[in-house]
Amino acid sequence: MVTTIGTLSTNEHLGDNHSKIHPNQTEYKHKMKKTSNTINGNDTVRYRKEITYQLYETDTEQVVDVIDNDEQLKHSTSSDQENRNVIDSNVKNVKRKYEYVWLNIIVMASLHVAALYGLTLIPYAHRATIVWAYLLLLLGSIGVQAGAHRLWAHRTYKANFGARLFLSLCHVVALQNDVYEWSRDHRAHHKFADTDGDPHDSTKGFFFSHVGWLLVRKHSEVKRRGKTLDMSDLERDGIVMFQRRWYIPMVALFWGLIPMAIPVLCWNELPFNSIFICIFSRYVIALNLTWCVNSWAHMFGNRPYDKRLFAVEASIRHLLMGEGFHNYHHTFPWDYSASELGSMDVFNPATAVIDFFHWMGWAWDLKKVSPAMIEKRKKSTGDSVWYHKRNTSFYEWTTGTFTILSPLAFGLYLNYVLSG
Ligand SMILES: [Zn+2]
Ligand SMILES: [Zn+2]
Repeated sequence: MVTTIGTLSTNEHLGDNHSKIHPNQTEYKHKMKKTSNTINGNDTVRYRKEITYQLYETDTEQVVDVIDNDEQLKHSTSSDQENRNVIDSNVKNVKRKYEYVWLNIIVMASLHVAALYGLTLIPYAHRATIVWAYLLLLLGSIGVQAGAHRLWAHRTYKANFGARLFLSLCHVVALQNDVYEWSRDHRAHHKFADTDGDPHDSTKGFFFSHVGWLLVRKHSEVKRRGKTLDMSDLERDGIVMFQRRWYIPMVALFWGLIPMAIPVLCWNELPFNSIFICIFSRYVIALNLTWCVNSWAHMFGNRPYDKRLFAVEASIRHLLMGEGFHNYHHTFPWDYSASELGSMDVFNPATAVIDFFHWMGWAWDLKKVSPAMIEKRKKSTGDSVWYHKRNTSFYEWTTGTFTILSPLAFGLYLNYVLSG
């Protein structure tokens, strides 16, 4: 059963950390007008940032109120008074100092070199190895998107033991820290989005929000604010805690050994090819796609739902497989689809997976925002330039399928041509 949450009320919460605004503030209206695509480049970022911050500081009334009383939704929907006080060096013009973590820098650089080298081996590998590496990439992204992100970090639906076990194993294949840590970082990202309390604050630049945040010590605000997050729901989840406890052996098995061994045992692939293609290349490509949600999807796109947020409906949404509707997602983070539309209307494989679990009876209480609430919110805070035309679902799915299959097709083509 899909639960629609969204009875409109005079008090309607922002689904995020973001500003509580007073509708009659003329100053606010004036500022909002100025943000609407009239200022370009860095000025836009800086200006948007200042506005967001000022709203934290000055607003006293809530226009938007959380629509749901479900305890679990609090993790993804509650606006926090504290957010307003996040010390933000971007606004305060405090010079940023990064403390480099050289071990991480060396490891990450080596991984990327190994991944590039792995790509050069594609022409000489068994074709099944290329398909296998691609499947691993998809499995990992399902674990991250449908699992760590929508199930655990945001609690957008509930799932049985089988679904949670499957998703937690897929999440290990992706190797992006255990679900608990992933969810803590992600809850901080939403609650303190694009401030110093956000682990990958996009106002610190594309590189920082993409990968740089993993190469430097966490900002003190990230640590401080991270401790204020309620993670008790995940502490009660046996699968999450099991994965956390046994994470390193599980990574060795499901990220490394099994992905490498299957091609060697099943179709006599060279271990060397298998290690570089199925582990390093596959891993680094998947990482960069996930990181694009933090970087690209906070910069390049439009803002039909809330123009005050940095998050955008990403221009590369098809490549992001369902996580590209980021302006919507930051506006309504409790929506299981992470987009206004369902899995059949837009290219959103992660939603399709959850729908499939739902059909099997493995997932339930799928939370969806009502169309009336979405419309109200768009009118209230969206960028009207983008109350946009909708593509047909045929266009969405053919474009999406083509987009994500073309790298595989290209790899197989190279292999076919160059291997003779
Ligand atoms: Zn985001
Ligand atoms: Zn999220």
